[in-house]
Amino acid sequence: MTQRPKGSLFVLCAPSGTGKSTLVRRLTAEFANIRFSVSWTTRAPRPGEVHGRDYVFAAKEDFLRKVEQGFFAEWAEVHGNCYGTPLEFTRELAQQGFDVLFDIDVQGARQLKASLPEACYVFLLPPSRAALEARLRGRGTDDEATIQKRLRNAGGELTAADMFDHWIVNDDIETAYDGLRAVYLAKKLSPASDPDLVSRLLAQWKEA
Ligand code: 5GP
Repeated sequence: MTQRPKGSLFVLCAPSGTGKSTLVRRLTAEFANIRFSVSWTTRAPRPGEVHGRDYVFAAKEDFLRKVEQGFFAEWAEVHGNCYGTPLEFTRELAQQGFDVLFDIDVQGARQLKASLPEACYVFLLPPSRAALEARLRGRGTDDEATIQKRLRNAGGELTAADMFDHWIVNDDIETAYDGLRAVYLAKKLSPASDPDLVSRLLAQWKEA
């Protein structure tokens, strides 16, 4: 019987405002085999966000209970709210052969790397501080204090760049998307993503 290969894992991190959501949307729209790892969060839903699709929105006490139960593969406090990746959900998706994309912060990526070293770790970078500041202002969603906080946090996140397998600078969204697509395809073409492929082929030679 032909066994479906296990899915690959992709961790995408980026300072807030770098354009990560746009790239995630494009990649999941182009490749049907990718499933987004739906995190839990204690922050309130933004307009248009759907419970269970974008996040599982939870009360802080429920979130902390899940932390105690070991429900999360990693969790972190980001910009004052808690975010966590459910362990079983992602494990099941990968077992079913889906590629799983994690959109998490740098603290979460560091924790995941300890338990999932086989995942592909991608860091999306702004082309400059000024460009990031302009993008944060252009979104029109944050007040001045929040913009300054996100800029400061971005500086902190950049110091973790060394732990990533790939760096993609988002100067131009098309070029950045080409980079992300290339990383995805290269990972899928590595023997590690389907270690039994050759033995399955060789079995046909034996049967012939
Ligand atoms: P937002 O509130 O803008 O959706 O996300 C804020 C930050 O939290 C982003 O950097 C996002 O990548 C991160 N984040 C989302 N889900 C998780 C998660 O499950 N774990 C961690 N560590 N960070 C997350």
